[in-house]
Amino acid sequence: MTVAPLAVTVSLPNDQEASGRSFDEAELSLVAEALRSGTLTSTKGTMVARFEKAVAELIGVEHAVACASGSAAVHSAVAVVDPEPGEEIITTSITDMGALAPILYEGAVPVFADTDPITGNVTAESVAAAMSGRTRAIIATHLFGNPADLVGIREVAARAGVPLIEDAAQAYLARTPVGLVGAVGEFGAFSLQQGKHITCGEGGFVTTNDARTAHEVRVYVNKSWPYGQPDPDHRGLALNYRLTELQGAVALGQLGKLPAGVATRREIAALLDEELADVEGITPTRAAPGDTHSYWRYVVHVDRDVVPGGPVAIAAALRPQGIPSAPRYISKPAFRCGVFAEQKTFGQSHWPFSLARPEAVDYAAERFPGTFAFLDSVLVLSFNERYTPAHAAFVADGLRSAVESARTEVA
Ligand SMILES: *Cc1c(COP(=O)(O)O)cnc(C)c1O
Repeated sequence: MTVAPLAVTVSLPNDQEASGRSFDEAELSLVAEALRSGTLTSTKGTMVARFEKAVAELIGVEHAVACASGSAAVHSAVAVVDPEPGEEIITTSITDMGALAPILYEGAVPVFADTDPITGNVTAESVAAAMSGRTRAIIATHLFGNPADLVGIREVAARAGVPLIEDAAQAYLARTPVGLVGAVGEFGAFSLQQGKHITCGEGGFVTTNDARTAHEVRVYVNKSWPYGQPDPDHRGLALNYRLTELQGAVALGQLGKLPAGVATRREIAALLDEELADVEGITPTRAAPGDTHSYWRYVVHVDRDVVPGGPVAIAAALRPQGIPSAPRYISKPAFRCGVFAEQKTFGQSHWPFSLARPEAVDYAAERFPGTFAFLDSVLVLSFNERYTPAHAAFVADGLRSAVESARTEVA
């Protein structure tokens, strides 16, 4: 005879479908408005323009330029920096490939700074150590919604006279002592992809305080066509990276919900922090003093000395309880992916790696102790604005019992 489990199963909201997203009449009426207007391209319509104005205001920057994806946002920023082939852009290997491929497309060499073993973010020290005479820009990614050290990294960038590009795709409304993320560097890059804080399926935008930079990004997003200029010409090489009016309408509707969504994430994360305080071997990740996290995901570290099997064992014990998690996050640093490890780019050319300094493409593990330590202990828990205190309690209980079972199985 089998005994039915006693535990009441809670179903966690999932940001890949309706349970974890917040779409309602706000988006519906804006989409209807866009459709009724008959204009679905942002070059003639008003929705994308309205979204750009509203999101710039919310983030506290002078300009925002919408584009097709977060990858396109990073690409546009790098393209406007306009590196010479073989010049270097400092970045992180713990990120979305959409933040790295654009560097290669622009003929620049991504140089990976090591990351902090707890936050997974690059640090002022690791960025400084990766700088060379060829450095043309620094990309700082605010992983999971936890701000990178913008004060320190901005100083390193300023000392070298290179622009700072903030990859804020995961960090909407995260706060630092020098401003919201995405408002501090020369460029901010955001994503509107399905799994981000707000979404229109696919999409993104670039933020900047500089009018000329904003103009250059806009021209880049439009196949290098300066709409509205007296003597327009395709003066450079660029793609169609536009957001449609339909996407703009959904994004505009979503924007109104962003502050409340981030506030909810912070409240639920605080509950989880509290609930997990007494769970030995599990350490939630916090923002640095003075910074405010915006919790794209809820991230803990698992101490292998306390929990045999570490994050992989915990994830395996969480799965049957209906609690999805990603041990090791992206499982390996980006430089272990084929595009870097085998330099698989344009035909057999290995370009632009073929132009790189040997140290710039030296991916030996001992050069990245923080990165490997981070991946070895991190456990990334699914999270979204639809989580309630009951969901937090369910996840905390799940983690507590996962730790217990991992420890007793070995004992
Ligand atoms: C999602 C993401 C991107 C890419 O955005 P897409 O819209 O998927 O192209 C870039 N960087 C980071 C850190 C991301 O999380």
